[in-house]
Amino acid sequence: MADPKPGNAAPAKKAATGAYTPAGVSPNRRGRHTYTIRLWAVRHSRFFEWFYNRFANVFLLLHPLWKTLGYSRVEKPITFVERHVKGFLFDCRMCGQCALSSTGMSCPMNCPKQLRNGPCGGVRSNGNCEVEPDMPCVWVQAWKGSQNMTGGQKIMNVQKPVNQSLRETSSWLRVTAEAAAEREAAANKEMK
Ligand code: SF4
Repeated sequence: MADPKPGNAAPAKKAATGAYTPAGVSPNRRGRHTYTIRLWAVRHSRFFEWFYNRFANVFLLLHPLWKTLGYSRVEKPITFVERHVKGFLFDCRMCGQCALSSTGMSCPMNCPKQLRNGPCGGVRSNGNCEVEPDMPCVWVQAWKGSQNMTGGQKIMNVQKPVNQSLRETSSWLRVTAEAAAEREAAANKEMK
């Protein structure tokens, strides 16, 4: 069979980078399914904040287990679970540095411009995105969600630029490892 002409070549399969791909999902499907759950999660941001705090504590309690098994060894299965759970609830893009607890449970990586510190100047008068007119602006939603949360003022914290090397890694494990290291450092300091 002849090689396809350059102009007719099938588009190469996009690498799973977690990057925003608006063309990959039909607006109808997003409208009916994805946005519904995403917006529901924002409306219940207080519950998710409460749940996540407890969940993070359980993960921290399990630190000895993760350490024994090896963080690098459990990375793959935990990332798999995290991707599916957070993908379903928040349309998570697996940036690996989760900001949900500071953004009203609205994932900032769903912003087509991937802005992590507030909206651009193009929010429509109906609160939707200028790039994707059918999509509610993630930062308008973030503000709404943060108003329900006890730690809602965290939305004012400046988020660091995305570290691309953390993409497709587990935010849950990283936060746990960092909290465990902090706890151990504090305990060592007290003993001195
Ligand atoms: S901030 Fe990152 S880890 Fe958190 S839901 Fe969004 S893409 Fe996923």
